[in-house]
Amino acid sequence: MAPEREKIYEIEVKRRRVKTGGGYEPFWKVKDVATALSDNDTEFRCKDCFGEVKLLGKNSKAGAPPYVEHKRPADSEYCSNGMLFKKATDGREAKPSEHPVQ
Ligand SMILES: [Zn+2]
Repeated sequence: MAPEREKIYEIEVKRRRVKTGGGYEPFWKVKDVATALSDNDTEFRCKDCFGEVKLLGKNSKAGAPPYVEHKRPADSEYCSNGMLFKKATDGREAKPSEHPVQ
C-alpha cells in the first residue's frame, strides 16, 4: 500500500492590489489549487498555518485535481488542516507555522 499523502486543495495565493494613496500592497487570497494554477499564481502558502507548501499532482491524470502538501513536516503536525495534526491523538493545539510565508 502506498503511504498516505497529505492533500490540501485550498490555499492562499499572494496578490497585489492598489493601495489607498498610491502604489501596490500584497495581500493573500484563498483559492483552490486548480484555480490558482489556471490563474498563473506563483506564490502559495497554507491558508491555515501560513507555512510553505509544495505543489503536487499538477501533471496527474485527467480529472484528478492538483493539490499541495506542507513542505515542513512540523507544519503538518501543528496545522489545523495538517494530516499529521489530524492524526495526532495527544490533544495538541494547532499553531501557526514557525516559518510562515510573508
Ligand atoms: Zn498548514
